Amino acid sequence: MDGRDALGEAEWFDAHTHIGQNDPDGRKATPEEILGGLDQAGHRRSMLFAMHEPDGYSAANDAVLEAAAASDGRFVPLARIAPNAEGAVDEAKRALAAGAAGFKLHPRSDAFGLPHPVVEEVVALAHARRAPVLFHAGRGIPHLGEAVVELARRYPGARLILAHAGISDLGWIAEDAAQLRNLFFDTAWWNVADQLQLYATIPPGRILYASDMPYGPGIFAAFCFLRVARAVGHGPEALRSIAGAQLARVVAGEEPVDVGPAPGVAAVGQRVIEAERVVSYCSVALQLAFRGFDPSESIALARLACQTRRDETVGELLRYADRLLAIAQENRDARPEVPYAAMPATLLAMVIAGTPEVGVPPIAV
Ligand SMILES: [Zn+2]
Repeated sequence: MDGRDALGEAEWFDAHTHIGQNDPDGRKATPEEILGGLDQAGHRRSMLFAMHEPDGYSAANDAVLEAAAASDGRFVPLARIAPNAEGAVDEAKRALAAGAAGFKLHPRSDAFGLPHPVVEEVVALAHARRAPVLFHAGRGIPHLGEAVVELARRYPGARLILAHAGISDLGWIAEDAAQLRNLFFDTAWWNVADQLQLYATIPPGRILYASDMPYGPGIFAAFCFLRVARAVGHGPEALRSIAGAQLARVVAGEEPVDVGPAPGVAAVGQRVIEAERVVSYCSVALQLAFRGFDPSESIALARLACQTRRDETVGELLRYADRLLAIAQENRDARPEVPYAAMPATLLAMVIAGTPEVGVPPIAV
């Protein structure tokens, strides 16, 4: 599970981490906590930006810039811009002048849609500097991909990143993504089916490893990335590109490197129905826990689905998933007041069951 062992000298570079103390969702994170998460995962760098700030982003962007300046190069700061706020373009220019490497835009929490004239101005600024713009493209928004594809065509210098595996648009966007060298996807998302579609249908040079810390620990995100990327047959060059080599070029203003075509949906291989049952119940458990509900029944159903008389790899894999799910339930019972307590072990069980061709992990649980 340790990123250092898996990729040797590769410089891991997480595309998606946050700090902030005022997000209405209750999560908080300091720069020290994000550095701790990078260290735990064996990762060198991350792009860093603000969590939701209902009172505006100037001070939050300054906090990100200060954290980056004090980080010995480990944080690459993005300025978060709320397009409907007064002076949004001025804030973007101010942040660039103060050292921001690009921008983060969040259509859900900052309540805007695309196309949007201020977003276009922000993307034009990024185009002039060959800088990244990261769009939240996860839950809670209608799809925005057409507008982003259009911006990527018109502003080829801008490096546009659809966060959260681009799930808002992942179903249809592969052909456009194959043509657009400046359209990227970060991997910060939990559902293994979405992950399989991302790695199978999007060229590996367009995929950027990301955790979404503090929401997703880097060590789990890295495990998920390596497992799913191997499941679709990616080799060392693609893995190094996704882990950080491509993002290093993006933030340096260099041209992205093509590391080959998407492997295609056939690369996902045959599904193992016993394991698919485990995946489906784990998905329900994760969604319930994420929303603060008790996931115990779904975990119990997932554990029942793990019971099999198959004794080759499938049997071993499901016994492994079952042990993880037992840990998930223990964690839940030990801290029922913490809605997320069951999530890490359930997530691991889902990812392992969803990628049976990769085999049983070499770590005992
Ligand atoms: Zn995020």
